[in-house]
Amino acid sequence: MNTRKVLITGGSRGIGKAIVQRIAREGAHVIFSYRSNEEAANALVEELSDAPGKVEAIQSDVSDFAQAKELFAEAKDRMDGLDTLINNAGINKDRTLFMMPEDYWHDVIQTNLNGTFYMCRAAVPHLLKQKHGAVINMSSVSGVVGVAGQVNYSASKAGIIGLSRSLAKECAQRNVRVNVVAPGFIDTDMVSSVPEKMREQILAMIPMKRFGNADEVADITAFLMSDKASYITGQVFVIDGGMTC
Ligand code: NDP
Repeated sequence: MNTRKVLITGGSRGIGKAIVQRIAREGAHVIFSYRSNEEAANALVEELSDAPGKVEAIQSDVSDFAQAKELFAEAKDRMDGLDTLINNAGINKDRTLFMMPEDYWHDVIQTNLNGTFYMCRAAVPHLLKQKHGAVINMSSVSGVVGVAGQVNYSASKAGIIGLSRSLAKECAQRNVRVNVVAPGFIDTDMVSSVPEKMREQILAMIPMKRFGNADEVADITAFLMSDKASYITGQVFVIDGGMTC
């Protein structure tokens, strides 16, 4: 990891934070973005100040193409290059279809799917030019099997899988790998906001009878960006305690 230059979106909390911690402790130079929670971002930079890898934070909204392009340019400039892009930033605004306001649909698609496209559109030409690199896009089991109450989120996460598979084929000859991680229910702020009764119903559907933790998602992500995954591209890695098996 100690030569890696990594840009990860939404790295200040939850799964993104666990990935930042994991790869910075292995020596990667990591720049992570966050949308609004500056306090959490600064705390993470401070926490990792003695890690072998350098860690920096940049405020940037992935749902804005201009900001996505600026984020990539700034990160590449600060690290003097880039070889790994992790599109992790995501939101959910859950409602059943007939209760879903139009803005819930657009907000979730704009951040999750369009944001992933914006970051790829900004960074992938650089990876192709240098003829090496890895892209890891965060989807969800909700994009693989569908979850009631998440039509917007499921559509965005299924879209990320389609985007990633096509992009993998466009990039393979230039040694740029594109893979997807699709977590089930992972114990982060996103899941703790689910009402207790629903959390119990979800747990009943998980064969391992527990939520995943963010470090478990960080492990597969670190593997996919490493040279150990050098012949893997265009794949979706589900990590869900057996929920969709
Ligand atoms: P959290 O809500 O815990 O953290 C989200 C992170 O994304 C924060 O750092 C947040 O920054 C950032 N973010 C949100 N919107 C934007 C934006 N527009 N621009 C830039 N950064 C943004 O989420 P999780 O860690 O739970 O989820 C991470 C990813 O994993 C998401 O893509 C999610 O869909 C996916 N996932 C999560 C699962 C789970 O069970 N937790 C299951 C399956 C997939 P800030 O704090 O500043 O707002």
